Amino acid sequence: MIKVSLISLGCAKNLVDSEIMVGHLHQAGMLVVPEAEKADVVIVNTCSFIDSSKEESIGHILEMHEQRGMRKRRKHQKLIVAGCMSQRFAKDLPNALPEVDAFIGLDQVNKVAPIIEEIFARERGANHVPVSFIEGRSTWIPDYDTPRFRLTPKHFAYLKIAEGCNHPCTFCIIPQIRGRHRSRTVASVVAEARQLVREGVKEINLISQDTTFFGMDTWEQRPSPRTPVDSSRGTALTTLLRELNAIEGDFWIRLLYTHPAHWSDELIRTIAACPKVARYIDIPLQHISDRMLGLMQRETTSAYIRDLIRRIRAGIPGIAIRTTFIVGFPGETEADVDELCEFIRETRFERLGVFRYSQEEGTRAAKMEPQVPRKVKEARWHRVMALQKEIAAEVSEAYVGQTLKILVEEPGVARGEADAPDIDGRVYLPITVPVGEFATVKITGYEDYDLLALPAGEEPTTRKVARQAQ
Ligand code: SF4
Repeated sequence: MIKVSLISLGCAKNLVDSEIMVGHLHQAGMLVVPEAEKADVVIVNTCSFIDSSKEESIGHILEMHEQRGMRKRRKHQKLIVAGCMSQRFAKDLPNALPEVDAFIGLDQVNKVAPIIEEIFARERGANHVPVSFIEGRSTWIPDYDTPRFRLTPKHFAYLKIAEGCNHPCTFCIIPQIRGRHRSRTVASVVAEARQLVREGVKEINLISQDTTFFGMDTWEQRPSPRTPVDSSRGTALTTLLRELNAIEGDFWIRLLYTHPAHWSDELIRTIAACPKVARYIDIPLQHISDRMLGLMQRETTSAYIRDLIRRIRAGIPGIAIRTTFIVGFPGETEADVDELCEFIRETRFERLGVFRYSQEEGTRAAKMEPQVPRKVKEARWHRVMALQKEIAAEVSEAYVGQTLKILVEEPGVARGEADAPDIDGRVYLPITVPVGEFATVKITGYEDYDLLALPAGEEPTTRKVARQAQ
């Protein structure tokens, strides 16, 4: 039996690709093992969104190659590179990384088992050249019955509802890697969600590159950049949310990776009317200065964004808004950053992340002038993060005394509705509350982004609070 070990890097969409590979390996009777040293094949599922993720991917590949050279037992181990870096640099990598046995692309995740058999059939002769199985631009999308072995904890799952992206953001390489936007059908997503709920999943995270564009690629009349979600024109995210909300069971539906351009009053009303949809939205805005939004080609304006946030907060009481911004985009001035900080101070996002602009080869922004020096980018990153840290502490303080529904992740650690997996805060509570279940707690304190809690009905005693604060 062939033993395979897989290293999954990058975002949740790449993790779903890893889960699909593991599902197909199991289906082919191969054994997936956590330890690379025990494996006959190591797969590195790479990310290449920005510089740091490329470096991390190459680091893992070279480390796996070195390690196999160090142990006699691993001399014949095969090294396969998959994911976004493999897809993006399909032409260059075979020469750049001759250590690798094979490169597979995003559309080969469901062919990983026969590819492994083929690699073993080929002897790694003296003048070995890596094999590439990548077949052009990515167009594939999984379905509800695509073999998949979940790598997330039992109680939450990612559900990829679409792949690819049609937006022209000038800093982003993803459309060139993941291809044009293509949505799954509502029936396919609902079937998979039903299965996940049957398996005991308590939180379904809807993911894609632009979750708000769901279904619009199937519309007869192509939607223009700021076409609002309008289910009278065809399948839309609102259609999907209503159907998911109708599934029996106690679970959260979390919306990740929405694009401001495709929000609408209908979507706001639908979320407000669907109690299973978490009072949380992830909406990367990238900037607020109109000059920057124009150069980034974000298809939105500062007036549009401010109005949208106002409508979302008014239409969905208790909503927590997560966003991300980029600092250091070519041509960005201190005045642009001042405007951004003023907007953040006014809007008080519950959750916020900041990226330093990464000059990505193949994007239009990479050729723009002037590029912002690294030191200046760094200073701007720290300035915005410091501002958000203050706001985050005030946001946390406002939760003290509230009673919240939380999902316990591990003993003594949970997440609230305002916390997506891996990227947001934590709720710390006594370890007696069962893992993988919802619980109702009272917030007794906070530390920056995190909250301290006790099961509802339990009064804090100095000893308990002290123990919590430890
Ligand atoms: S919406 Fe823009 S930033 Fe997001 S994946 Fe598409 S092109 Fe990239």
